[in-house]
Parts: sequence; structure tokens; C-alpha cells
Amino acid sequence: MTAKNDTELKGFIRKIALLNAVKHEGKAQTGPVVGKLLGEKPKYRTRVKEVSQAVSTVIKEINGLSLREQLLVIEEKWPEALVKEKVQEEKRLPPLPNVANYQRIVTRYSPNPDCVLHLGSARAIVLCHEYAVMYNGKFILRFEDTDPKLKRPVLEFYDRIREDLAWVECKPDEEYIQSDRIPIYYEYAERLINDGNAYVCTCQHDEFRRSILAIQPCKCRDIPKEEHLARWRRMLEGVYKEGEAVVRVKTDLSHPNPAVRDWPALRVLDTEKYPHPRVGSKYRVWPLYNLAAGVDDHLMGITHIIRGKEHLTNQVRQEYMYHHLGWKYPETIHYGRLKITGASLSKSKLVQGMREGLYRNWDDPRLATFAALRRRGISPEAIRRLMIDIGPKTSDVILSWENLYAHNRKVLDPVADRYFFVQDPIEMSVKSIPQAFVVRLNLHPDNPERGFREYKIVPSGNDGSVSFWVSRKDVSPSNIGMVLRLMELFNVKIVNASLYAAEASFESESYGQARDIKAQLIHWVPVGEDMPCRVVMPDATLAEGVAERVCKRLKRDDVIQFERFGFVRIDRVDDELTAYYAQK
Ligand SMILES: [Zn+2]
Repeated sequence: MTAKNDTELKGFIRKIALLNAVKHEGKAQTGPVVGKLLGEKPKYRTRVKEVSQAVSTVIKEINGLSLREQLLVIEEKWPEALVKEKVQEEKRLPPLPNVANYQRIVTRYSPNPDCVLHLGSARAIVLCHEYAVMYNGKFILRFEDTDPKLKRPVLEFYDRIREDLAWVECKPDEEYIQSDRIPIYYEYAERLINDGNAYVCTCQHDEFRRSILAIQPCKCRDIPKEEHLARWRRMLEGVYKEGEAVVRVKTDLSHPNPAVRDWPALRVLDTEKYPHPRVGSKYRVWPLYNLAAGVDDHLMGITHIIRGKEHLTNQVRQEYMYHHLGWKYPETIHYGRLKITGASLSKSKLVQGMREGLYRNWDDPRLATFAALRRRGISPEAIRRLMIDIGPKTSDVILSWENLYAHNRKVLDPVADRYFFVQDPIEMSVKSIPQAFVVRLNLHPDNPERGFREYKIVPSGNDGSVSFWVSRKDVSPSNIGMVLRLMELFNVKIVNASLYAAEASFESESYGQARDIKAQLIHWVPVGEDMPCRVVMPDATLAEGVAERVCKRLKRDDVIQFERFGFVRIDRVDDELTAYYAQK
């Protein structure tokens, strides 16, 4: 084949393989790629061997890319193919409203760094990021850390949140921290006061409430703006103590929702008592949520705000301020509530549990934090796919862990190597083994190229016996007289069994026999080829036993499947193997 033809062939293969890869969680498969190529380009049908080799080479290279990189290549070279493939293959997000009105789509995720991210945060993150990518826009991370008293930010969480976003592959294009921007909020507060659209209210809380419920201005509202500007300066100078003055943005006093009427925008906090973890006691006047978020959304050019419907009233409040300032409010999408049965998505419960020592750490397997999911081997891709599946719909959604596991299984199954882990092991001696056996166990049932491990089973002693570790669950006194098959090896008949040991005799090698009598297939580890292993389960209990000693070559963060047990993530490898349980 000429060099030119070779390049042409590789070009065809590349496209088909990339599209195949993105269909299969980033891993293209040789067979289907060869098949598709030969189907589309019949002229290669006489050169199948050559084509297969070329496909293997290209796939090796492509499978080395992340799913994201693969998508980027396709987007650049064959964008039309991607649209077609995606529509067929995966759920896509519905289009954003009024996209044509904006030069560039800008979304933001704006957490308060008072907690780590958890599954409940995932929807806002994934949707905002996904939409920014979808429209080649910009995704902003904004730390909303302006309440050092009641929603006190914690320094370590700024970094943890950055790490969590990187892990879930939603890295922001820009980052802002509101506690760095206090002078900006002051500037707009002053402008609102100066324009007569905000005022400094010094009423007692109850006093203000009484007048506002009666649709009456409080005693401050209608005094001249010069006095309010003077009060504002006194706020900044520290004349007012905490609770003595609040800047309010004027609204329609007869708005049907009293909580909207003349909402509070900035207040005085005793930062000597409640210093901010980043800026200490530098500021005494702090913006409240609607002022800071509202000003920032405008200044940062946010075009689409995607958030939960609990923010609907905030939009109503902020629209008054936008009107005062002559700004246009961004497009909004308010999605419904998300519940995951069996997972607590309440931030306050999480923080409380940590404080009370109920959980060991932020990655305690009982939690639904990103840190815990990561430690268990839940893939970020699974989280992303699940959130895209749910999308931004306004109705409430109830999910179970199984919804997440289904996505995760699709990611892990093709790439996780298989090993044996014998939980609660007992030693079973198998007698009368007629000859030595050499058994090769493939690391993956569908991908033999992933390799294998090999065991030589050599009978010894007068009775030709070999000892295996088997699980107490599989071999118990009630199994006496039954035939079981040691997976991929041979069939044995249980002669004797106690809670601590068992004896069996060689029955036959035939898989057919095992199938005919519906013998249970059990996993095993030859005694002497084992290493201690413990698996931390999602309820924080331990499953203890032995794994194959070859597991010693595994590395931290590898995700494997212990056959008949489940997917686990390797957490630590030394003389003992420690893993975290992901799922069945
Ligand atoms: Zn007042």
C-alpha cells in the first residue's frame, strides 16, 4: 500500500474510531470499527488483515485520549457527525432560550465555600458547565462568601471546591471571590441610594415588619436621600453596630409577597466577633445575597442563570434592582427539586454530622459528597451523564443510587480488570486431583488483550491435594455432597465442611457437567497466592478476606471488579490491599 493510501485509510479509521469511542465512554472497539469501515469503503474488503492492523494502531492512540479530548477532535473536524451521533446515542440538553440575543453564552456556578460539593450540587455544576461547552461559551466559578456570621466560609473549602470541579471535569474559565469585591458592592449601593432607589433603614426588625405587612413605608423610607447618604457613610465608618442599620432596595410596597417588599441589600456585621476567614475584620458592612449576586451577574455578563426553583423569589427581588440600575435581567432557568433516596443531600445535616463526629471525614463512604464518591470509584462521567439525563426540567425528580450506578457501570465495565476476592475465607483442601493444571484467567471477559494471570495447580502429597481459599458463603456444612465449580478451573465435590475449613474431592474438569447439573460457580484463591484484603463498604463497615496476590501490582485509584462481589476502587496497596466498594 502506498503512503498516500495509507494516510487515507488511517483518516477514515480515525473518524469511525473516534465516533465509536465517544459512544462507548471513550473506548473504541476494534470489531465494530473494522466492520463499519468495510461497510462504508468496500474497496478495503480484500485487505482485511491490513485494515485490522491499522485499526488496532489507531484505536490504541484514540483510546489513550480522554472522552473530552475525543469530543474536541470530532467537534473540530467533523462537527456534523457529532450532532448526528449524539442525537442517536445520548440524551442532549434542550436548547437554552434566546441564545441568538447574546454574543457569547456565559453561565456561572456560585457556591458558598462553607461545605464541600456533593451530589446535590452536581446538577447546577454540570448543567451550567455543559451549556457553556455546548455554545462555546464561558463557565464562571464565583465564591459567594459574604456571610461571615451565619454561613461562615471556611478556607479549606475554596480549594476543595476547585478540586471537586476539576474532578468532575467542569473546570471554570474564570473565577471570582465575592469577599474580594466588597468595594464594588459599596459603589452600587451608593448609586442606588443616591438615585433614591435604596435607603438606610434603622428601624427595629419588628417595627419594619409591621409597616411592611401593612403596605406602609417605614419611618426611614421617605426621608431625603441626603440623610440616607449620610447614614450610609456612618454605616461604613462603624457608627452603627450590628443590627442597627440595613440598606434596603425599594420595591413596589404592595407587591403580593411581603418577603419581596423593600428587601435588605447590605447590613452591618460585628466582624471583630465574626472575622471573615479571608479578609478578617476589614469590612463591617456586608452585602446580602441578592445585592452581591445580582450585581455580579450583571458585571460578569452572565447570560443564563441556571438554578433551583427555590430562587424564583430572588429573581423577583433582583429585578427591582436591575430596573433601578437600567440593566437587563439574564435569562433564567429554574429547575425542580432533586431527591436521591438513601442519600442525604442536606448541607446542614452534613456539616452537623461532621461536627458531631458521626462521619470520619468528608470522604466518609456513607456521604454523597464528591470526595466520598471519588473515593468509592464512582466516575465523574457517570455523575455528568446522570445530570444531563435529568436536565433542567422544572418538575421535581426522585432518583435512587441505582440510577447513578447504571451510568457508572457503563463507564467501568469495559475498563475494569477482574480479580478474585474471597470474603470470609475458609481453607478448602481438594483431594484426588489427577494431574497438574495450568489455568489462565483473563483480566477482562470481553477484552482478552487486557492480559491474564496464570496459576499452576500442582497436586501434592499422597492424596494429590491442593488448598484453596473459598468464601464461607459458598462452602458451608449445608453444601456437603454437592458439586461446585471453581471458576475456570474444575469441578469439586464437597466432602466435609465446617465454619473454618472444608474438604473436597476432584470431580471433573468438564464445564459441560457443571452446566448440566447447574453447579454453582465460585471464585477461589490458591493458598499461598493470596494477600490480605479489606473492602470499605458504603455503610462504612469492612468486608475482610483475601485477594489474589497479583493484586499487589495494582495502584491507588485503579478501579477493578472483584468477581461476584462488585466494583471497587483501590485505596492502598502494601502488604495488605485496601479498597473502597463502589457498587455491584
Ligand atoms: Zn426603617
